[in-house]
Amino acid sequence: MTDHRIHNFNAGPAVLPLSVLKEIQASFLNFNNSGMSITEISHRSSYFDNVINDAVERAKRLLGLDDQYHVLFLQGGASLQFAMIPMNFLSGDQSADYVNTGTWSTKAIKEAKIQKKKHVVVASSEDKDFSYIPKNITFSKDAKYVHITSNNTIKGTQYADFPDTGGIPIIADMSSDFFSRPLPMEKFGMIYAGAQKNLGPSGTCMVILRKDLLETANADLPSMLKYSTFAEKNSMYNTPPCFGIYTIDLVLKWIEEEMGGLEKMEAYNQEKAGLLYDLIEASSFYRATAEKGSRSLMNVTFRLPSEELEQKFIKEAAAKGLGGLKGHRSVGGCRASIYNASPMESIKALVEFMDVFQKEAK
Ligand code: PMP
Repeated sequence: MTDHRIHNFNAGPAVLPLSVLKEIQASFLNFNNSGMSITEISHRSSYFDNVINDAVERAKRLLGLDDQYHVLFLQGGASLQFAMIPMNFLSGDQSADYVNTGTWSTKAIKEAKIQKKKHVVVASSEDKDFSYIPKNITFSKDAKYVHITSNNTIKGTQYADFPDTGGIPIIADMSSDFFSRPLPMEKFGMIYAGAQKNLGPSGTCMVILRKDLLETANADLPSMLKYSTFAEKNSMYNTPPCFGIYTIDLVLKWIEEEMGGLEKMEAYNQEKAGLLYDLIEASSFYRATAEKGSRSLMNVTFRLPSEELEQKFIKEAAAKGLGGLKGHRSVGGCRASIYNASPMESIKALVEFMDVFQKEAK
């Protein structure tokens, strides 16, 4: 079976560690000797309690967090967070700063706007088609939070370092680089991610929230749109996305036990992305779309000399078992999404293919 698997460069849902998939497969009919599948077990059972608590503890251990943080599993994807963040954390005259680095930041800003919440777009890289991460940003002194997108899945840019906001908590959409590197958690009030890139199947959104942010959060909101509802019930106010949380637990276990933690995960990600960027840099055929210093370790975006060649490239790659290399439909070009679980052998296969393709095209 496994030899039919392709080299999967999809942007999300995306490749998961093979050992995790095999463990899911092996225990799918009878989870932990329960006589039931994980998809059949009550979320109110000790079986599931162990799963969710293990996922929470692993997330905290990996990021070095104490009990000042909530680890939550919600639904509605990262997109619902765009709305919940201003809804929960801004009231009356309070205002938030936003940095616009592409489609997903723009969508986050839109949700603050729809709710008529005060906000300032303090920096944007739209002037150069979102090909870089803005630096030396001046933040508003009274901002309640600063919202950023740590990795821009479509444009292939990523914060190498996080801005100094003078103590204002950063809230970061980390959908496409969650758990891919160690984080300076003292800078963050909240980090969140739709699971389907670096963590598991779609349908679960993981939120890590500093507890003090809840103290001043709006209370008069619908239950399902309030962070406190989920924080008070260990993410089980209603039926949680059990299968997603179970898979996330296994992926976090893989990062911790097989990869050896976030520092090693980062080194592996740097090595993988380095192979691709080195080839692109040395080439007069391929062109990286993101500026040096802002390039993503997760989504490597590049162009070929013409759209015809790009189409040929994507088609021939797919025929050779290299899938998902088409750029996002809004920008075109090519994109290799190489998340945590993307194995080195896939990167090497892609580098080899790219090298042969450019030589043959000349
Ligand atoms: N933020 C980023 C950075 C993303 O890449 C995506 C999805 N591609 C989203 C948010 C939206 O996530 P979801 O589909 O989980 O709402």
